[in-house]
This record gives sequence, C-alpha cells and structure tokens, in this order.
Amino acid sequence: TVRGQELSGTAVASEITGQLAKQVEDFGKKIPGFRPGLAIVQVGARDDSNSCIKQKIDAAKRVGVQIQHVQLPKTATQREILSELKKLNEDPHVHGIVVQMPPDSDNQVDALTITNAVSPSKDVDGLHTLNEGKLAIGDLSGFLPCTSLGVLELLKKTGRALEGAEVVVLGRSKVVGTPVAELLKWHHATVTICHSKTKNLKEKCLKADILVVAIGKAEYVKGDWIKPGAIVIDCGINVIDASKSSPKIVGDVAYQEAKPLTSYITPVPGGVGPVTVAMLVSNTVRSAAKVATHLLRP
Ligand code: NDP
Repeated sequence: TVRGQELSGTAVASEITGQLAKQVEDFGKKIPGFRPGLAIVQVGARDDSNSCIKQKIDAAKRVGVQIQHVQLPKTATQREILSELKKLNEDPHVHGIVVQMPPDSDNQVDALTITNAVSPSKDVDGLHTLNEGKLAIGDLSGFLPCTSLGVLELLKKTGRALEGAEVVVLGRSKVVGTPVAELLKWHHATVTICHSKTKNLKEKCLKADILVVAIGKAEYVKGDWIKPGAIVIDCGINVIDASKSSPKIVGDVAYQEAKPLTSYITPVPGGVGPVTVAMLVSNTVRSAAKVATHLLRP
C-alpha cells in the first residue's frame, strides 16, 4: 500500500463548488432571478474574522450565491445583534445565516443566545441547539456543522469504509470535535473522543484507523502517535510567528513526521479549511433548494 498520500482539500473544495455552481445556474433557469442568499453577520473587525469572511465570500461568489455582509460596530449590544438576526430570519432572499465567531463586541454577548437566535431552517453553520440535538440522535435531516461535513467529504475521497472503523477524535468543541465525532458515529464508525483531560493520549491515537485532530495546538500530535496506514485529518489552524512579517500556518499534527506513516493525510493549509468553506456554501444552496422546490410546486 502507498503511504503518505496527501488529501488535498483545495482539490475537493473546487470539485464541490463546481457542482454547486451548476446547481445554482439551474435554479436561475427554472426560476428567473432566483439566487441562493447567505448573510454573514460580523460584530467588530478582528483580523482573523476578516480573512475567514473573505474566504467565505470568495467561495460564495464562485458558486453564484448572493452575499449580504452585515457589519456591526464593536459598540453593538446583544439586543442589536438579535434584532439584526430577526430581520434576516424574516428576509425571504436570505436562505442561510452565519454569525462570525467570536463576536468582537465591547458589550457582553452570549454566544449560545446568538447561535440559537438564528432560525433553525437558515442555520447553515449547524450551531442551533435543535440541529445539534438532531445530529446527536442520528437524524441527519437538519443542518450539520461545516467542518464535520468537510471531514466526511475528505474521508469519502480515500474510499476507506467508515463502518466499523476505529476513529479517534481529539477535541470536543461545539464547532468541530463534537459534531465530527457525532457524524462519524452515525456513519457507523466506533468513535473515541479525547480532550484535555484524557489520559495516555498517544496510546489512544495509536489505535486509530482514522485520526481526526481539532485541538488548536501547533504540531502537537507526533509521528510516533500514528498507527501505520492510518488516515489523518488535521483540522487545526495555528498561526506561528504571528508578530513577524511572514507568519506561518501549521496544523495540530507534526505533518512531516506523521506523513510517511499514514495512508492519507490532509495538509495545513489546503486541507480541511477550504472544504469547510465549500460546505458552508453547500448548506446554503441546500437551504435555497428547499425554497426553490416549494416555488416550483404547481
Ligand atoms: P477549542 O479551543 O474550542 O477546542 C479545543 C478542544 O481540544 C477542546 O475540546 C479541548 O479539550 C481539546 N484540547 C486542547 N488541548 C488538548 C490537549 N493537549 N490534548 C487533548 N485535547 C486537547 O477549538 P476548536 O475546536 O474551535 O478548534 C480546534 C482547531 O481547529 C483550532 O486550531 C481551530 O483554529 C481549528 N478550526 C478549524 C476549522 C476548519 O474549518 N478547518 C474550523 C474551526 C476551527 P477541553 O474540552 O477539555 O478543553
């Protein structure tokens, strides 16, 4: 078997956005003037949020999704954010809503109150408690978090069966670790979830046929933690030397060390990141498709 094959997220993402663009063109032909709409709500102007939003806007543009970038000042209060979300929930041209996290406000803003104020039917980030609950019990009809969908798309490319596979997920956050673990569990993998209190992390990792890492610690997972032939999906995005003129981005896995042991491994950058963005656009198109189907009904 070939070792150390790079799973390019850039390639997978462009394949996905290509298909979505065709679908959107098709809507436009059937319902003149119809375009999927995505609203991105940003509070403040953090650098990392700006670059993340730029990637989302670029991908949406390539597909033909209309973007509404709602920029609220740092002085925005929670009430003002909620009232903006209410408007977007009611706007028929908006099919998907995301709130860029973390909101950078001078005032106290509760993240859960914000994510639960997005209508579950427009919750293309999959962070509403209702959509999370559905995923937890194996109802995959709701919106699923974009990174979990991205990880699944990358795994599909390897051709490896998920059913019965030993999967180890490092990290249990609301946005990445938990939904990845849930989604793979419902694809019939046997999933072990590890976190900062897990003991003997290396031993746990060595059992993984598929290792998904989302801890936010630069190159934390070493080469000798990898079971020979395993698939490694690295969700980490860590900026090294952020203060210097040429900051470097690395994953949570020591890539060069780990690569020769794996069957497949995702690079950082160019791995999970771009596929995650593509899945946000995909969720938006899916949400719009539901509306379009409704409009086409005689
Ligand atoms: P969080 O900080 O919210 O969560 C980190 C998780 O990792 C926690 O569950 C934490 O455990 C666990 N953890 C931290 N340190 C260790 C350790 N030493 N050993 C084992 N577990 C540990 O981060 P996110 O989940 O939001 O993000 C994780 C990474 O993924 C980051 O690098 C982030 O930038 C990136 N990311 C990538 C995305 C993509 O699309 N590629 C999207 C979003 C994030 P505990 O629960 O005990 O605290």
